Amino acid sequence: MDISSDTKLYAVIGDPIEHSFSPLMQNIAFQRLGLNSVYLAFRVRSQDLESAIAGMRSLGVSGFNVTVPHKVSVMRYLDRVDRLAVDIGAVNTVVNEGGTLIGYNTDGEGALAALREEGVELKGRKVVLLGAGGAAKALAFSIAPAVGKLIILNRTESKARDLASSLKGRLSSAVEGRKLTETSLRNELADADVLINATSVGMYPKADETLVKREFLHRGMTVFDIVYNPLMTRLLKEAEAASVHAMGGVKMLVYQGALAFELWTGRKPPVDEMCEAVENALRRRTG
Ligand code: NAP
Repeated sequence: MDISSDTKLYAVIGDPIEHSFSPLMQNIAFQRLGLNSVYLAFRVRSQDLESAIAGMRSLGVSGFNVTVPHKVSVMRYLDRVDRLAVDIGAVNTVVNEGGTLIGYNTDGEGALAALREEGVELKGRKVVLLGAGGAAKALAFSIAPAVGKLIILNRTESKARDLASSLKGRLSSAVEGRKLTETSLRNELADADVLINATSVGMYPKADETLVKREFLHRGMTVFDIVYNPLMTRLLKEAEAASVHAMGGVKMLVYQGALAFELWTGRKPPVDEMCEAVENALRRRTG
């Protein structure tokens, strides 16, 4: 690619950052669409966040993604934060609109787009969401208006309850937060249509772990594991073995990036190509 004096710069900031797939997929998108833009990753330590954002502003960086551990703390350095990101309490995408930094959160909408692409119906359905951390929260705010009933199960019960009560105004039907136990899982999954694992259980290097016993799964349900490393988690393998519709986390990862790309450029990126690149990179990484 040709770098010139009017090449636009986009970036991702986090700590650590070296395992991020965002530069890979965003640069594919810029290249395919023939945009004179480049996307880089910067490791920013927490104590340097304020000056990093000031740097983005003064250098005129066109937009950037924000990842762990800055998704919450970055909000105080922005000029404006979109309503959904305020509700979620975290920002993963910043748009620089003529010097005004505006924060968005595309994680939950990315998950929703991935579910739609897989043809998973949410309207009127019962969804069991495992986890109440950052990803679960973003996901819950995006799917809540679409589902019939949402049950949030989390190891730390208070976080499940807090998330459920913060969602109440967004749901026409039931939302409940409970402690994640074998009994609550068994009971709630018995008539669930969709199970979403938004905990870090099953993530590399502890890829042989799962919270869900295989006998709790039943045909007709969808299992969505947002963990994307490894591509096939133990939960997904067991779901497939039980003939249960299973989907992994790569599509969500790519769609949150694709939505950020759209916010920056107003253009639709090549999602399939981005997915393929991320999957290939993951296969190479895990051998
Ligand atoms: P987080 O904020 O640290 O939350 C972690 C969640 O996992 C909490 O609900 C935590 O429960 C639960 N958990 C951790 N260990 C557990 C265990 N042994 N048993 C039961 N629950 C456990 O992390 P996050 O940012 O939400 O990320 C969660 C996962 O989602 C990670 O694997 C991440 O890679 C993945 N993710 C995927 C995407 C994507 O685009 N596909 C996007 C974001 C994140 P407590 O509250 O009790 O600690």
